Amino acid sequence: MACEFDAPEGVTSHVLANAQLPTLPPGQYTILAAFVLACPRRRVLKIIARATGAKCLPAARIPPAGDALHDSHAEILARRAAVRWFYEEIGRDVAGERSTWLRRGEGAGTGEGDGGRYELEEGVRLHLYVSTPPCGDASTRFLASFQDPAIALLKDGSPLPSPSPNVALLPETAPALALARGRDGYALYGVLRTKPGRADSPRTECMSCADKIALWAVCGVQGALLAAVLKPVWIASVTIGEVGDADREVVREDCERAFGGRVRGVRDLPVGYALHEPAIHFTALPFASARTSVLVAHPGCTPKSSNESLAWHADSASPPDVLINGRKRGVAPKHAHNARFWCAPSPLPSARLGQ
Ligand SMILES: [Zn+2]
Repeated sequence: MACEFDAPEGVTSHVLANAQLPTLPPGQYTILAAFVLACPRRRVLKIIARATGAKCLPAARIPPAGDALHDSHAEILARRAAVRWFYEEIGRDVAGERSTWLRRGEGAGTGEGDGGRYELEEGVRLHLYVSTPPCGDASTRFLASFQDPAIALLKDGSPLPSPSPNVALLPETAPALALARGRDGYALYGVLRTKPGRADSPRTECMSCADKIALWAVCGVQGALLAAVLKPVWIASVTIGEVGDADREVVREDCERAFGGRVRGVRDLPVGYALHEPAIHFTALPFASARTSVLVAHPGCTPKSSNESLAWHADSASPPDVLINGRKRGVAPKHAHNARFWCAPSPLPSARLGQ
């Protein structure tokens, strides 16, 4: 397959051409995110994970057993599905089906240092596509640009809550009050923000997608458990849809600050970890179920975000999981706690690995 590598239009057109998403009811929109591996040497792009979603569980509805997905925003589900793919790809390689995307690090079998940990093949890069600017610090000005002026004034002036004692502040890089609910106080830049943005929706304990992308820019997308067998994998670029030419300069500035600029002061990281700020790109290619596409198709309507999410990872025999309220759609309540019926990007991947 011949593609333009590391070019946002190439990555985006590849994602949209292979999205294979169900059509939403009229007036409903969602967000699409996908992780794509690119190998310029072999001139191949591979979508390893894809997800849609714009919901997260209110704090009051998080199950005591923790066996539901709290955060079903597209970027977060796509990252979970990507982690799942990395686990399975390593499993296939160990079983003798040699991976063309991952390789065993030098010193395999020695048990020393990075010996035996997998890493991306030389030259392979990981890209993220998102159909709209990620929620949180990356999108407050973008969203404010089409907000009702009276509401904007209210949110601009609303006080920030005091940070929880559990939230670690980054001295020198974060303002004194560094935690905000949704879009409250959106004129303040660089603060951590919880989901969701709407002030009339129930409180959650989910950090915004922009905050999680900033975390991945330092720690990698693989997470602590997978880091035992895979060296950190960082996002090389983020390509964003729905941003018109007039807004791109502002949104680029916000994304660069949100995804990396505000954590440049982080220090004393473990060996092997460092800030990797992703390049920011924009695309004019439309996603058919984006909010702006729904407005074009149904002028005058008030688009509503879909309650359902979808998560898919490559090289799986199973169809994409459809999720609602953090669980697989269609699973009877009596089976909700049975791991057999959990979605593929499970909240407890380690428990599933042994199955
Ligand atoms: Zn989000």
